[in-house]
Amino acid sequence: MKFSQINGNESLKSRLKAMVDSGKLGHAFLFVEEEGMGALPMALALAQYINCKGEKDGDSCGVCSNCYKIEKLIHPDLHFSYPVNASPLLSEAEKKKPTSDMFLNEWRELCLSNPYFSEQDLYSAFKIEGKQGNISVNEAKRIIDVLSLKPLEADNKVMIIFLAERMNSEAANKLLKLLEEPPAGTYFFLIAQQPSRLLTTIVSRCQLIRLQPESPRDLAAILSKEKGIDESDALNYARVAAGSYGRAIKLIEENESEKEYEQKVKELFEVCLNKNLVEVISTADSLAEMGREQQKTFCRQAELLIRKLFMFANGAGDISLAQQKEYDYLETLASRIKPDFYEKGLKIFDSALVAIESNTNSKLLFLDICNRLYMML
Ligand SMILES: [Zn+2]
Repeated sequence: MKFSQINGNESLKSRLKAMVDSGKLGHAFLFVEEEGMGALPMALALAQYINCKGEKDGDSCGVCSNCYKIEKLIHPDLHFSYPVNASPLLSEAEKKKPTSDMFLNEWRELCLSNPYFSEQDLYSAFKIEGKQGNISVNEAKRIIDVLSLKPLEADNKVMIIFLAERMNSEAANKLLKLLEEPPAGTYFFLIAQQPSRLLTTIVSRCQLIRLQPESPRDLAAILSKEKGIDESDALNYARVAAGSYGRAIKLIEENESEKEYEQKVKELFEVCLNKNLVEVISTADSLAEMGREQQKTFCRQAELLIRKLFMFANGAGDISLAQQKEYDYLETLASRIKPDFYEKGLKIFDSALVAIESNTNSKLLFLDICNRLYMML
């Protein structure tokens, strides 16, 4: 990754580049960030900048062999360590002593698709959801082994330790000596989101680099350019994400997926209102074929839409949290719905959520839901 591919944190980028250019780059850095602020892309850009063999014009060249391999995360002198745990992806023997190298393919895939991922995203990729990942003493031994060899292709070896606060004290103590006096041409880039959990002896051996949140206005400009969303929506996302690009991207994705389900609910309401029984039955069939989680999302979106429509029907659309561009549509839809529907409609989906949890026959359940809506709307 080139520095120019990272949005924001401009003064930090200049500072890091100046350290490299002046030959005054320390050997151990601790990047402190809040989730999704981009410490990992920053560490990757720094690793690439110090190893680039091409013409550096204020950034790495992006085309020399070192840049190429670092961008693809396949450079033999770029190493990673991150919290792991026993996972169904591992063999029985591996499960006893899981280390980062066993998850390298999943790690690469995740970083390449979105280097602003959260700790939970990492655990989902490793299929260890619901467990706490950790950096164990076995991992510390692996780090020492990996760094004891001379660089293979680049002038410098880089070890990026993501979520270094997940290191237990045994692992941390094992790494202290290496952190204090790494072999020549070896760099440690530690990344932490909760630095207070790190041993002070680790922190004191590192140069501290703190990433700053973007201002809501700057982040909104980035989001609106990259995602093609309205500036006012972008500003809302930027505020809720507290200036974290990664969090904002996640909010946008979640919202898009919710919108997709909301659209399905609107389509069902419309075929019911149009008294198109054939379409109602075929919609019931297609809803019954969805997975359980999708069915639950559908029911929750149905409840949200019913509440929104209730507000529009009662002249309170402006407090419904609906977007301005939806107003006309919701007003028209609400005007077609009988006033006694709202309470009954909510009950239908409340009971549906309970029924889905208890593994009711989906086909019968959705046929029943759709029939009732057809009668009531
Ligand atoms: Zn290069």
